[in-house]
Formats: sequence, structure tokens, C-alpha cells
Amino acid sequence: MEVACLDLEGVLIPEIWIEFANKTGIEELKATTRDIPDYDVLMKQRLRILDENGFKLQDIQEVIATLKPLDGAIEFVNWLRERFQVIILSDTFYEFSQPLMRQLGFPTLFCHRLETDEEGRVVNYHLRQADPKRQSIRALQTIYYRTIAAGDSYNDTTMLAEADAGILFKAPQNVIEEFPQFPAVHEYEDLKKEFLKASNRDLTL
Ligand SMILES: [Mg+2]
Repeated sequence: MEVACLDLEGVLIPEIWIEFANKTGIEELKATTRDIPDYDVLMKQRLRILDENGFKLQDIQEVIATLKPLDGAIEFVNWLRERFQVIILSDTFYEFSQPLMRQLGFPTLFCHRLETDEEGRVVNYHLRQADPKRQSIRALQTIYYRTIAAGDSYNDTTMLAEADAGILFKAPQNVIEEFPQFPAVHEYEDLKKEFLKASNRDLTL
């Protein structure tokens, strides 16, 4: 049996923090782990900025609901789900991804969680576990599933390496060059072909 594991942001939907910053004009929210390498420091800063700007979870979700999956993503997910069991392995939060997952038809999603208080303010975040994408692949292997994984960035590379087959999709050039062992494609039509190539079953486009 085979499972397809997909990253979410950059593969099926835009980067939520960047798009949220664009929509709201809050420039400080564009900081990423490249600017602040300590993820905990970065997340605490993001939550503080949201609070300072008076955003409660519902307001944030309303902004995120105006975002759309990447062009072709909905069709691609439907195509993939007809041929594979699909699990999305993401470093986003259930509460943020909800409006976009609805547009994708709510495929299975393993990600992190936010904590809110009685007034709906986001007060904390909880990571599912350390190295969550790779750990999920390992867990699937213990029940004898073959795994084929696709992602776009550094936080996907341990998942791609652990999987039976790993594919880079819409990855930046530096990631492609640093990880030449993975095929790299940029269009959904080519990603479909990579999944078919990686499969041990006789599937067709
Ligand atoms: Mg990504």
C-alpha cells in the first residue's frame, strides 16, 4: 500500500504568514526563520504582534478565508486522492489552515495547534512533536505503507529523505542545488508524473 504525503504551504496554498501580512499591511509579520532562527522566539513575536493589532482568532480566520489555494491545487489534490491515500504533513496550525483546508475539501492534515483564551485571543502554540514530518513517515513505515512525499523547502527535507521517494515541488533554487538527490518540478502536471514514476503500482494520468 502507498501513501502520498504532501507539504501544505508553498505546495498547495500560499505562505499563510506572508499573505496575512500582505492583507493586513503588518510588515513585522513577514519575518521568517531566516530572520529569527529560533522558531519559539519567532512564534512568540508573531502572537504578540497579532495581539497588539487586536486580532483575535476569528478575525485572523476571516482574513485567511480571503486567501485561495494555489492555481491548480484543488484539481491536483482531487487527482492525487483518486490514486493514493493522501496525508498533508504541515508546520501550520489547524486553526489557521481551516479556511484553506475547506477549499481543498478537508484532506487529512497533521499539523500543530494554537491555544486561545475565553475571549478568542491567541495566547500560545503547541507543536505536535519534534521533527513531525519525518516522524510521520516513520510511523507509516511501521504499518508497512510505502511513502511518497513532496515538499518545497528545508523543513521538508528530512521527510523527503525518510520517505521511499521524495520530490521537491516549487522549491527555491538553493534548496534544489543543496538536495540534488530529489527530482525537482514546478508544475502540477509534472508533479503528477513524478508520483506515477515513484509508485510501485500501474497508475495512469
Ligand atoms: Mg512549504
